[in-house]
Amino acid sequence: MRLLSYLVSPLLWLLLATALLTVSNAVAASINSIDGVRVWPAPENTRVVFDLKTKPDYKYFTLSNPSRLVIDFKNTKNSTALKSLANNDPRIKLFRTSTSKSKSSTRLVLELAKSYQLTVFPLAPAGQYGNRLVIDLYDKNKKSQPIAKTTPNGKRDIIVAIVAGHGGEDPGSIGAKGSYEKRVTLAIAKKLSKLINQRSGFKAVMIRTGDYYVKHSRKTELARKNKADLLISIHADAFVSSKPDGASVLVQSSRRANSEFTRWIANRQDESELLGGAGETIKKTKDKNLAFTLADMKKEYTMASSYEFALHVIKEIKQVTKLHKKEPEGLSLAVLKSSDIPSVLIETGFISNPSEEKKLNNKHHQQKLANAIFKAVDSYFLENTPKGTLLAATTMKKHKVRSGESLSVLAQRYKISVATIKSVNKLKSNVLRIGQTLKIPRAG
Ligand SMILES: [Zn+2]
Repeated sequence: MRLLSYLVSPLLWLLLATALLTVSNAVAASINSIDGVRVWPAPENTRVVFDLKTKPDYKYFTLSNPSRLVIDFKNTKNSTALKSLANNDPRIKLFRTSTSKSKSSTRLVLELAKSYQLTVFPLAPAGQYGNRLVIDLYDKNKKSQPIAKTTPNGKRDIIVAIVAGHGGEDPGSIGAKGSYEKRVTLAIAKKLSKLINQRSGFKAVMIRTGDYYVKHSRKTELARKNKADLLISIHADAFVSSKPDGASVLVQSSRRANSEFTRWIANRQDESELLGGAGETIKKTKDKNLAFTLADMKKEYTMASSYEFALHVIKEIKQVTKLHKKEPEGLSLAVLKSSDIPSVLIETGFISNPSEEKKLNNKHHQQKLANAIFKAVDSYFLENTPKGTLLAATTMKKHKVRSGESLSVLAQRYKISVATIKSVNKLKSNVLRIGQTLKIPRAG
């Protein structure tokens, strides 16, 4: 018996080895392939995305004089036309193949305009995409300069940062008829930016100006660098069912109830005085508790401001489209978490709803949405005019209430409505105190 089993086992091993060899041959036969290449030029970087049949097995290195990036795709054949891929890109001059180490592999060479900071990473299948290899070429010296300007009289513009949701490799939601959220958001953002730039004392900063993706950290960085007073993210909603429709406005969630926010807003005149120099105090103070308290107040102040702006947006946007939610929705989203800049995210409608998808693609409807958001920006900053701005200098006068003066008397004198005085000064009643200082918008 024992002898027999010794004889049998080498035979078994041989059988097993044959079987394994067959399996490995099958793997070698199912060679990977590059099935598509997309190039996304952006102001600060170019993203190249390779579509692959299976998970990429790759190595890369760079060469200089002239600058090149060489990528070896192991066991991969190339099924794409490379010739005109670099036509519209400022950083890549040419895509070509070169002799690879083995017959079953592909060596790709990207001829570059100069040397770049490189990031190379694979992406697992997601949504409409399969396996991908992503290459980011970043400019070594970021060119973008802050656009905030001070006028000769030392007054600055109010800066509104606009983020058109998604972009480039990230299409966002896709409508029933195939429209991409990233295109709708960019179209609305451009219209909004134009309106803001036409208004004297305001400047828009588009965080994305074309079809490319901007990393979240870079969005915040750009908004901060430009000293944005407000950050508006524009999106379109989607749901598994095609039924839901309407717009909604999202702000960062807080443990505090909305009623508390409202109280905060009502009392913030005094608070804002304190917070004016809070940033400096937070930086300089040795008192940890004070720093924490101020930082916390600053955060609360930003959240309250975001919430207040969201109310302005809802008030205006409901004139031009149905609302999905009647109140600002508190959510914990990375894009809203810049604790120093009031931020809102506007879902302009449901792209997954066929009739709303059609509207979102309609230029007139996009313009209506942009107009509504612009009106909200305008009315919000009229009520909350930052100090030192051109708007504060050119549109506001101060008036100290004297004995015998009423709202209607002042309205008549300054040729504006009682409602405007009330909203700009956040007055809840018609009663004025003697000595009270009111902001009076200049007529016209
Ligand atoms: Zn979105």
